[in-house]
Amino acid sequence: MNTDKTDVVYRIQCHDCDCCYVGQTKRHLSTRIKEHRMDIKKHVSDHSVVSKHRTNENHDFDWNNVQILHQDKHFKKREIAEMCFIKSHDSTINLQRDTEKLPCIYDIILKRK
Ligand SMILES: [Zn+2]
Repeated sequence: MNTDKTDVVYRIQCHDCDCCYVGQTKRHLSTRIKEHRMDIKKHVSDHSVVSKHRTNENHDFDWNNVQILHQDKHFKKREIAEMCFIKSHDSTINLQRDTEKLPCIYDIILKRK
């Protein structure tokens, strides 16, 4: 697996259901994955959507098979790619606000896949 890559859009798949999380980072993917995994050690009120899914559903994510969806050094391009991937997946646990910068016209185009 290429977790030493930087500037990526990635998908973490739940091991126990169809849900997934789409994110992006300019740092090493492995660093970001570590943060996602450790987030659960924080106080429950500070939990990320990933940790919430783990505790509320008693599920865990497939940490060893994080998929790289896109790679781009340009932050804005990466952000747009991330939003497109979130919109085109029906089962993401991402928050609505992760995609609100993308005009809703894209919903129609991206949901058709
Ligand atoms: Zn799940």
